[in-house]
Amino acid sequence: MEASIREGREDCLFCRIIEKKIPSKIVYEDTRAIAFEDVNPQAPVHLLVIPVKHIASLSAIQPKDDAILTHLFSVVSRLAREKGIVERGYRTVINSGRGAGQTVFHLHVHLLSGRPFQWPPG
Ligand code: AMP
Ligand code: ZN
Repeated sequence: MEASIREGREDCLFCRIIEKKIPSKIVYEDTRAIAFEDVNPQAPVHLLVIPVKHIASLSAIQPKDDAILTHLFSVVSRLAREKGIVERGYRTVINSGRGAGQTVFHLHVHLLSGRPFQWPPG
C-alpha cells in the first residue's frame, strides 16, 4: 500500500476496523469502501460508510479523491435500498471538525433512519 494511504493510520480507530484488528459489524465491503454498524446507534438504522483510504475529514479531501467520494455516496445509496429505508427516508451526516462533533478523524458518512428527524439538526 502507498505511504500516502497509510499516513495517519497508526492510531486511527477506523483504520483498525478496516484491518479487522478491532471487531465491528461490517455490512458492506469492497476495495474502496466499507460500511459497519455504529457502536452507539442514534437511530434504529445507524451505519457508518468510510473510505478504505485514510482521509482525516472532508477538509482533507484532495481533487484526486473525487472518485472516492462519489463511490462513498454510491455505497450509501445502495445500502439505503438494501435496508429498505428509501421510502421512509434517511439522513446522511458528515461531521467535519471538532466544533461540528467529529470525534473520529477518518472520514465517515453517518447513514441514519428509522425514526423522525428534526430540521434544523441539533
Ligand atoms: P463522529 O462523532 O461524527 O466522528 O462519529 C464517530 C462515530 O463513530 C460515533 O457515532 C461513534 O459512536 C462511532 N464509533 C466509535 N467507535 C466505534 C467502533 N469501535 N465501532 C463502530 N462505531 C464506532
Ligand atoms: Zn484511518
